[in-house]
Amino acid sequence: MVTGDAAYIKKMNRSLIIQTIVNERMISRADLSKATSLTRATISAQVADLLEEGLLREIEHEHSSVGRKPIMLSLNAQAGYAIGIDLDYGEISFTVTDLLGKPVSSKTVTLETPEYPEIVRLLARHIRAYIEEYKQSRYGIVGIAIAIHGLVSKRESIHFVPRFRWHHLNLKKDLENEIGQDIPIFLENNANLSALAERVFIHHQTNNLLCVTLYSGIGLGMIINNEFFQGHDGFAGEAGHMIVVPDGRLCNCGNKGCWEKYASESCVFESLAKCKQVKYVTYEYIQKLLAESDEETERIMEQFIYYLAVGINNIINLYNPEVVVLNSRLLGMHPDALGHIQQHLRSSISHYRQLSLSPIGKKACILGACALAITHFLDVPIVNLPYEP
Ligand SMILES: [Zn+2]
Repeated sequence: MVTGDAAYIKKMNRSLIIQTIVNERMISRADLSKATSLTRATISAQVADLLEEGLLREIEHEHSSVGRKPIMLSLNAQAGYAIGIDLDYGEISFTVTDLLGKPVSSKTVTLETPEYPEIVRLLARHIRAYIEEYKQSRYGIVGIAIAIHGLVSKRESIHFVPRFRWHHLNLKKDLENEIGQDIPIFLENNANLSALAERVFIHHQTNNLLCVTLYSGIGLGMIINNEFFQGHDGFAGEAGHMIVVPDGRLCNCGNKGCWEKYASESCVFESLAKCKQVKYVTYEYIQKLLAESDEETERIMEQFIYYLAVGINNIINLYNPEVVVLNSRLLGMHPDALGHIQQHLRSSISHYRQLSLSPIGKKACILGACALAITHFLDVPIVNLPYEP
C-alpha cells in the first residue's frame, strides 16, 4: 500500500499548502516551507502543480527595498466561484463569491409559494443562469451550498422545515437531477452556516465557536475543533427549545416555556406591539423608542436580555466554548447589550473567553454557505477569509 500512502500524504500536503497560502494571502516559497515545515522540494513540486491547475498566481512583491523582488504566491481567487443560497420563508437570497469569499453578485427573489416542486425549479433556474454566467472562469461554479431554516440530517437531506411544513425531502438529489451537472451541492442548517461564517471571516484564532442567531426563533450553530457539531442524526443545537420557564408560554414544538418564546427578537416585537397597541413593530420604531428612553421599551429589552442570558449561561456550561457570537440586530441597537448580558453571567462555573456581537448580521448564513462550498473545493478543513462589510 505504499502508493496509497504516498498519494494520501501528497493530498494532505496539498491541503496544508493551500490553507497556508489562503490564510497568509501572499507568501513566498521559502516562507511557505517554514510555515508548513515541508521541504523546499515538496513545496516546489506542489506549487508547480497548483500553478499549472490555475489555482495559484505568482506576484512580484512590491515592497522589497533592495535586490531581486521575491516572487510571492497567492490564491487565484477568480479561478472559480461559489454559490450560497439562503432558503428563507418568503424569499430566497443568492450570493456568488470568488474563492476568497468576496461577494461578486447578490440578489433576493420573493417566494410566492411554499410548494416544494416549484421551489426546486426556481432554484435550478437561477443556479443554471449562474453556471452560464461564470463558465468562462477556469473552474466555473465550484459548489453550491444551501442554508435550510430547519432540520437537516447528516446525509444532507431535509428532515423538517417548520414554516414550509416540509418533511423528509431530498433537495440535494432533486436539484442535482434538475441541474444535470456535476457540481457539488450541500445542504446545511442556517445556524451552523452562520457559525461557520463567524469562524471563517471574523474569528480566525479560534477552533471552538458557538453562534446564537436570534431572529424569528433561536438557532445555535456549533463549530468544535473546526467541524460542525451535529449530534447523532445532525439535529444538535436546537437550543431554542431548551425549557427556561417550566410551564411557561406554549411553543409550536409542543412544549411550554421554550427559550425562543422568551429570548428571540420576535418576542420583543410581539411584546412591544401588545404594549404599544400597534399592529407592526419595526427595528426603526424600536430604535426611536430606545433613543427616547421609553420606559416600556427599555423594560421589554431588559427582559429579553435577561432571558437571553439564562440560555447563554446554560449553553456555556454545556460546551465551555472559547468564543460565543450573538447574531441579532436588536442587540446592536442597545447601548450596552453585551455588558448587560455579562452581568447575568457571573456563575463561577461558566467559562468562555469572548462574548461578541456578529458584525456580519443576517448575511452570515449565506456567506457561511459560500465558505462551505469553497473549503470543499479547495479540500481544506477550514480557512481564514477576509471580511469586507
Ligand atoms: Zn419549543
